[in-house]
Amino acid sequence: MALEYTLSIIKPDAVRKRLIGQIYSRFEKNALVVVIAKRVRLTREQAENFYNVHKERSFFPQLVAFMSSGPIMVQVLKAESAVSRNREIMGDTDPRRAKPGTLRADFATTIEENAVHGSDSIETAKKEIAFFFPEFSASCKDHPC
Ligand code: GDP
Repeated sequence: MALEYTLSIIKPDAVRKRLIGQIYSRFEKNALVVVIAKRVRLTREQAENFYNVHKERSFFPQLVAFMSSGPIMVQVLKAESAVSRNREIMGDTDPRRAKPGTLRADFATTIEENAVHGSDSIETAKKEIAFFFPEFSASCKDHPC
């Protein structure tokens, strides 16, 4: 196992429901360390850029509107196998299919308003961390943060 970093977002639905504390508690119980974080509201354009890989999907306009509909909490998580560990505690994209006890089973409303985002690979994590925290990416080039 290797030490990894991954990008996590608490989406507008979960911020609106005041779930930041409960979700951070799940990170900590699962040894995912929050190493940098910020609360931001994405513009439409920033949401489009972040979800660019989905631009051909039918749900893209809705997804962009949702992700820019209110503040989000964005954090970099550090752990052994952080990418897969975070995906495991998130659960399936569709909360109806998410395993009991996962964040999406417990906190998501629909397949779109599904409480959290997590990078799906180490490569994606690098890009997504640079998107939100360019200074962090630069400072971590030569030493673990
Ligand atoms: P994730 O990696 O589990 O977040 O899932 P994807 O990368 O496939 O999708 C990105 C995000 O798009 C999801 O987390 C949802 O917010 C949204 N999404 C995915 N599939 C659908 C869908 O079928 N309909 C709608 N409205 N939104 C979707």
